[in-house]
Amino acid sequence: MKFETKTIHGGQHHEPMTGAVMPPVFQTSTYAQVTPGKPVGDYEYSRAANPTRTALEDALASIENGTKGLAFSSGLAATDCLLRSLKAGDEVIAMDDLYGGTYRLFTRIYKDSGIKFHFVDMNDMAAFTSLLNANTKLVWVETPTNPLMKVADIRAIADVLKGRNILFAVDNTFATPALQRPLDLGADIVMHSATKYLGGHSDVIAGALIIKDAALAEQLHFQQFATGATLGPMDSYLVLRGIKTLHLRMERHCENGAKVAEYLSKHPKVKTVYFPGLESHPYHAIAKKQMSGFGGMVSFTFASGAKADATTFLEKLKVFTLAESLGGVESLANHPALMTHASIPEDKRKENGITDDLVRLSVGVEHIDDLLADLEQAFG
Ligand SMILES: *Cc1c(COP(=O)(O)O)cnc(C)c1O
Repeated sequence: MKFETKTIHGGQHHEPMTGAVMPPVFQTSTYAQVTPGKPVGDYEYSRAANPTRTALEDALASIENGTKGLAFSSGLAATDCLLRSLKAGDEVIAMDDLYGGTYRLFTRIYKDSGIKFHFVDMNDMAAFTSLLNANTKLVWVETPTNPLMKVADIRAIADVLKGRNILFAVDNTFATPALQRPLDLGADIVMHSATKYLGGHSDVIAGALIIKDAALAEQLHFQQFATGATLGPMDSYLVLRGIKTLHLRMERHCENGAKVAEYLSKHPKVKTVYFPGLESHPYHAIAKKQMSGFGGMVSFTFASGAKADATTFLEKLKVFTLAESLGGVESLANHPALMTHASIPEDKRKENGITDDLVRLSVGVEHIDDLLADLEQAFG
């Protein structure tokens, strides 16, 4: 089945009782049993499984070419569930440019866990491989990254990890399986903030893990069941509905994203544009190799380098909404240093290039003329 068909039909069945084409929102916590321990159907308690969530999880597995999908109450809950499979003494190698909340989870919530986190430029293969040792249990990559659009070579990393007992997880939130399929490139686990492009309508907080190996999937499902950060039936329904138009939306996000990046790169008030589709992007070649499109996320800095220019620009936007989050049909603009990445200490932020004049755009699916006109008036 082609991807565009999977988004609509992958893992889906008509509801058996009524033939409903969309799964109902099974707003129930529990399920009747015939005799103790023998439920009427396949379900016992909705923390373990709920039919609406199952429909979403089967869709997730299908679009990412995984064995099993798990749906969580947020992207961070999904990441946390995976981290819980580690123990004191284990080591994690993570990319040095990560979503602020992921960095906060690693460095603050897991600070006293005895798990050691290394942060490294994944394009520096020598630096990356020098960190590998017998305690390494997980490699965590985000590509493209939030907000600097760094790109890591998934296949090259998977090749380095081959034959070692190390899990390789990729945060695929920015690209989505419409543009990049990490499991096909050798990763073991895909993570999503389904809040973003999968949901696609800025109306739900949700997360996902999609797993290749069946035994690992079972272990993570147990972990999810036993800790409880599952996605509710209504939210599962919303993400499932979003996935059905993912391929259509991503096409327009890519188109508009490329046009906005091109416009910005010619603008006299702009210094650097971060967009993997630009030939000037340092990792354009890797992006081109592993992605079928470059998405709708574009970041840039001001020629003046002034924070005030960035904030004034953001205040003036009318079609773009100044707000956290990304990946919805509507265009959003964000100031990473003050908003989404404020949880990263200032020195670390500066070191990684998240400067005070950096603006991140989530380019939506509106008409490109309205988007460019809005940017133009905000620069004026
Ligand atoms: C938003 C985001 C997350 C966190 O997901 P939530 O759904 O907000 O918990 C993780 N990774 C990336 C790349 C994100 O953009």
